[in-house]
Amino acid sequence: MTKKWVYRFDELDEVEAYVGGSWDGVKGLLGGKGANLAEMARIGVPVPPGFIITTEACNKYLSLGERLPKGLWSQLGEALKSIEKSSGKKFGDPHNPLLLSCRSGARFSMPGMMDTVLNVGLNEETVEGMIALSRDARFVYDLYRRLIQMFGNVVMHIPDEKFEAALSNTRKAAGVKTDADLAAEHWMAVTGEFKKIFRFHTHHEFPTEPYAQLQMATEAVFMSWNSKRAIAYRNAAGIAHDIGTAVNIVAMVYGNMGDDSATGVALTRSGTTGEKKIEGDYLTNAQGEDVVAGIRQTKDISELQTEMPKVHGEFLKVAALLEKHYRDMQDVEFTIEKGKLWMLQTRDGKRTSQAAVRIAVDMADEGLISREEAVMRISPEQIDFFLHPQFDNDALKVAKASGKLLAKGLNVSPGAAVGVVALDADLAERWGKQENKPVIMVRPETKPDDVHGMLAAQGILTSRGGRTSHAALVARQFGKPAVVGVTELEIDFTRRQLKVGDVIIREGEYISVDGTAGEVYVGEMTTKDPDMKDVSLLKILSWADDFRTLGVWANSDYPVDAKRAREYGAEGIGLCRTEHMFMETERLPLVQKMIMADMEVHRNEAIQALLPFQREDFSGLFRVMDGLPVVIRLIDPPLHEFLPDHISLIRDLADLKIQLQHALRLEDIDTLLQQVREKERILHRVESLREENPMLGMRGVRLGNHLPELTKMQVRAIFEAACIVSREGVDVRPEVMIPLTSHVNELKVQRELLEFEAQRVMEEQGMEINYKFGTMIEIPRAALTADQIAEYADFFSFGTNDLTQTTFGISRDDAESGFLIEYIMQGILPANPFETIDKNGVGELMRIAAQKGRQTKPELKLGICGEHGGEPRSIEICHNLGLNYVSCSPFRVPVARLAAARAALKFKMQTITWEADKETETAR
Ligand code: PEP
Ligand code: MG
Repeated sequence: MTKKWVYRFDELDEVEAYVGGSWDGVKGLLGGKGANLAEMARIGVPVPPGFIITTEACNKYLSLGERLPKGLWSQLGEALKSIEKSSGKKFGDPHNPLLLSCRSGARFSMPGMMDTVLNVGLNEETVEGMIALSRDARFVYDLYRRLIQMFGNVVMHIPDEKFEAALSNTRKAAGVKTDADLAAEHWMAVTGEFKKIFRFHTHHEFPTEPYAQLQMATEAVFMSWNSKRAIAYRNAAGIAHDIGTAVNIVAMVYGNMGDDSATGVALTRSGTTGEKKIEGDYLTNAQGEDVVAGIRQTKDISELQTEMPKVHGEFLKVAALLEKHYRDMQDVEFTIEKGKLWMLQTRDGKRTSQAAVRIAVDMADEGLISREEAVMRISPEQIDFFLHPQFDNDALKVAKASGKLLAKGLNVSPGAAVGVVALDADLAERWGKQENKPVIMVRPETKPDDVHGMLAAQGILTSRGGRTSHAALVARQFGKPAVVGVTELEIDFTRRQLKVGDVIIREGEYISVDGTAGEVYVGEMTTKDPDMKDVSLLKILSWADDFRTLGVWANSDYPVDAKRAREYGAEGIGLCRTEHMFMETERLPLVQKMIMADMEVHRNEAIQALLPFQREDFSGLFRVMDGLPVVIRLIDPPLHEFLPDHISLIRDLADLKIQLQHALRLEDIDTLLQQVREKERILHRVESLREENPMLGMRGVRLGNHLPELTKMQVRAIFEAACIVSREGVDVRPEVMIPLTSHVNELKVQRELLEFEAQRVMEEQGMEINYKFGTMIEIPRAALTADQIAEYADFFSFGTNDLTQTTFGISRDDAESGFLIEYIMQGILPANPFETIDKNGVGELMRIAAQKGRQTKPELKLGICGEHGGEPRSIEICHNLGLNYVSCSPFRVPVARLAAARAALKFKMQTITWEADKETETAR
């Protein structure tokens, strides 16, 4: 039996049976657009009759070297007959012609990337038939010229400007401004001109045989799958290249048959804010592409209520039905032909992160979806968006008062973007990517060919287009702030400048774009961190908290960061890197004095001088984290990091010695001599501390065992602070963390010493503090001997930065600027292991450590404080390992809360086993 390549809309049940029942499978075979057209027809939404040529047919066509697969054409003929039957028209019939649209439609929406040909089936004879039927020669010739134009452009690749230039000449010759003012004879003349253009560029006549038109258009859609712009889009959006496109062949309906006809696009809720309000644009007496092209000024969908109240009512009902059926916000295209509403497309609408969160929350509240689904619908990146900068409200007021507000347009994608104006996509890409400049790409409107520039830009500004324009869709998808439809904006490509009224901004000068308010400002405005007060965001995060089992803690060294972390929902501090405090101006000299001291008594003096500082640091943290655990890690880095760099010391010393040779005055010689001696002393010490691989040397617990007075001082500071703050009524929960353990004995020695000190402080203070002592797992040996290490630890915290470095044997400080990046680009490594946990290696060590650790001590608390703790895939791995918490930077806390909930829900739904979740060692 020959394979079935073509399915009518009413054959959806058969498709479902073929793909095994899943909607994903249906979309894979029929493409998103085709699947939804068939589904709309099934649920009673008015859809013109049509059929779909499958993605399998496209793949076969491409694999056969651009030849139609066997059986396709006869199946198409059969399907066409059924459209003819239900429409009462016949394809190619000069008396009652059926006209068809031929559109691409892949499994994933790729706005404007592939091709469409409308009005297929028109020729000299059918034109006459259409005129006789419609009694409107103007309308019919307009259709005919559109066919030649689209066919010429899409199928034969004739540049569209050639047609547009001819059209513009006709308008000039006729003395009219818009196409709407052209009469039938003008369109007839335009048709003749277009045919000439066609002949000139292709050396062929325009094909008049309707079936030849249909075949060529279908093949052009297949081939458009591999067009340069479609490939670039798929690369950017992460869509596979081998899934192919379907072709949707649908009976034409016309929005340009007079004032009772119209065409439009709409979102069933706001794609910008998520508000439950239909948002859309339409044009009366126009054909589909006029709306999306943004060339004519569209009307707001609300006006339809007054213009065509009956159709408007019907439209609202259809929109509600679609939302209920698809349980998501829909992006629809419709046409009204002589008062009759037809739906031409529906798909899940693209939306900003803000809108995504609001829609998910509202739909859960409306009972359309569950709270679990709401959480699963939000990606960690969408939460991340809320943490992106916005313009400061006060700064906005000042800018407005000082006349910096340049223009207003539609706020289609929120956020603040500041950059230099670039007037084309290539320049935007060059400046943005190669020269690392912040860029705002400014265009009259954007086209699919502009995507590379949009991706490289901070923000997008267009003078034309609406909420559903290409610029708006793409900006929203990639989270780029954008303002579109700024009608007062004149773009002068000859002078390479923008003009609004008298204000001129040259290419390369700064502007600021407020995608949240839809405003454009002259110059560079300052941005501010966002506040996390969005009601829907707070709701979805609180639902996420109900579902997650992983705790979310934060890495913070200072009270101000800890405060922010707590506001963002952190449930503890998982890592306070104490050495960061040592780097501060008033402390560094003391640290250096400690390192430089030749005698123990001097060293201890310096260490004791640091005590009050540390006590203050820890008190601040404890106060902010009242009632929550605070993990304080004892000093970790090698000591030379606190001293001047070796090479600069040698250079400075050489300079001083030259100055000394040339010095003439006695007092100068004296000072210089002293300086030389001091530098030599430091150099000597630096050299004595120098190690070939300092990151594998005297650091972490080794340093603690080597300089016990230092870690003892830190523990004293922690416990004195705990007692002081506890007396203030604060609930203090210190957890002392010892870094870089590799052998149980080094931890044993250090812990016993430090715990003794802790007990001493508590005795001195006459207080009991609830505390824990634990260690970081950062060395493979520690992971492998975790059962022994757990004897001396109340908790483990995976330091996956070091654990990755030590597992791979790659220096974390050098690798990311060197060969590691090449490895990732060449696919030798599937991903950057410093970004996402390498599950098969580092993850496996974590699994062993967790299992062995809990074997010794079932109540052992497990956490992670490496950078991976805020990365969604790594969080999923941590969940699956049964960790108690992840700890990440304060700004990643909300993202981690959501990611942890998603991991828990996914785990519950799929009961993933560690083995089954093993990663392939090839590209992810
Ligand atoms: C780690 O190694 O993962 C860690 C958190 O410690 P640091 O980055 O300070 O070495
Ligand atoms: Mg570390």
